[in-house]
Amino acid sequence: DTFGIERVLERLGVSKKNLGTSTGNQWIETKGDFISSFSPVDAALIGEIQISDRSSYEVVIQKAEEAFKIWRAKPAPQRGEIVRQIGNALRDVKEDLGKLVSYEMGKSYQEGLGEVQEMIDICDFAVGLSRQLYGLTMHSERPGHRMYEQWHPIGLVGIISAFNFPVAVWSWNSMIAWVCGDVCIWKPSEKAPLSAVACQHIVARVFKENGLPEGISNLIVGDYKVGEMMTKDKRVPLISATGSVRMGKIVGQEVAARLGRSLLELGGNNGIIITENADLDIAVRGALFGAVGTAGQRCTSTRRLIIQESVYETVKERLASAYSKLVIGNPLDEKNHVGPLIDKAAVELYLQAIEKVKAEGGKVIVNGGVLDGPGFESGCYVKPCIIEAESHFEMVQEETFAPILYIMKYKTLDEAIAMHNGVPQGLSSAIMTLNMREAEAFLSASGSDCGIANVNIGTSGAEIGGAFGGEKETGGGRESGSDSWKAYMRRQTNTINYSKALPLAQGIKFDI
Ligand code: NAD
Repeated sequence: DTFGIERVLERLGVSKKNLGTSTGNQWIETKGDFISSFSPVDAALIGEIQISDRSSYEVVIQKAEEAFKIWRAKPAPQRGEIVRQIGNALRDVKEDLGKLVSYEMGKSYQEGLGEVQEMIDICDFAVGLSRQLYGLTMHSERPGHRMYEQWHPIGLVGIISAFNFPVAVWSWNSMIAWVCGDVCIWKPSEKAPLSAVACQHIVARVFKENGLPEGISNLIVGDYKVGEMMTKDKRVPLISATGSVRMGKIVGQEVAARLGRSLLELGGNNGIIITENADLDIAVRGALFGAVGTAGQRCTSTRRLIIQESVYETVKERLASAYSKLVIGNPLDEKNHVGPLIDKAAVELYLQAIEKVKAEGGKVIVNGGVLDGPGFESGCYVKPCIIEAESHFEMVQEETFAPILYIMKYKTLDEAIAMHNGVPQGLSSAIMTLNMREAEAFLSASGSDCGIANVNIGTSGAEIGGAFGGEKETGGGRESGSDSWKAYMRRQTNTINYSKALPLAQGIKFDI
């Protein structure tokens, strides 16, 4: 136990055998099987967790509905005070939780810490927001009338999260939803469920210390079948789902079929345009972190580089040289740059993608492959690779959740933007240039079609202050900062008549 994981688990309240269904501090035994959570770091079994079943789900819904009645009546700034305390509780466990995330998901310890920092940041943001849930006032067309709008809590919010940000995505949703007056039911990824158990312990304690009901924070665990209980349930007015496009298409339809609201945060296929006017030091560093950071398992990972032909060879050589210096290994060891993929199924998809793109005519510039031998026993460590490809290749059009970078050449900026936008997804994008005209063209209405567009910054690594999300098959949802909170509330328009008459709108006459 070189990295002290056993003690970390103990401090976070994660045991070898865990219940997976919880409403606040109350953990419910079910008839469900147990999921085993293995670390991709060293293939060790971290712990087991019991899957939720229908009857435990019903208990959770009932507790959530009861809690909502109390929570929605609490003034928003007081709800913000609870979230402030959660932020402090997260500060206290930052190292432990960061380590668990790193060990269960396989990202570097630095990124694990970064993920918890992001949770703390969103708490701070939500605290401020709790005094800023502003509605507009408007001038009524009728004399003696006042008109305004207000935002009310929407109710039960179902949060479905992906494995790659096992805790931060939940916090983006739940902290905002809580200050908005909603209660949350979280179904974490079945590939990283123990990190969720740790989070539930942390927040449930804070709610309890403040004498608040159990059902404000709820956890259910399992695969898509458990997720489906929520997506098909009209008692859950908002489903916020993060994951693959495949999942989003199913969830979006299920929620739409009952005319519920969904907030979808799906896959990306993020590109960087590197023009002849780029600062190549920044371009190469930005592309490198974007492509190999988190072993290419971020929704914002850089998957495509679209490079102007005059700097193409230089960029290619500099990247290849940087790749040759990458150290792959245990992500908890800070000297390593690249950790493992989440599981062997992900390794298989990575290998298949390389074979497919080669068959389509792709030329390998930096070789991929699976690592074996001491330190790589989990079979999940792969080499980041670079492949020269063409935009229309089937594999280039798809998101492979692994460190495969496709590089492509262009002549004119118009051509580059067309290639850039010529994929089904629309999450994050970037241009590397010191030329103002190029940068502004990329940010204009005729430029990038993504939810995030950066200049001289790579595609990955967003701050919580902005609205996060993407267009097209990425699903259109926005989370986190700016006015994303509006998705978690229902808007109500109010008109008050303080006159002695009853004029109708549009001057309509209706006298008897
Ligand atoms: P996934 O789609 O396999 O699973 C995500 C979650 O959805 C899991 O909790 C899973 O159990 C659940 N799920 C799957 N099918 C479901 C269904 N039919 N009904 C209800 N729930 C269902 O994704 P993953 O492998 O965990 O994560 C990787 C993917 O997530 C990538 O495509 C990545 O780009 C995407 N992602 C997007 C964002 C974003 O903000 N846009 C952030 C992180 C990850």
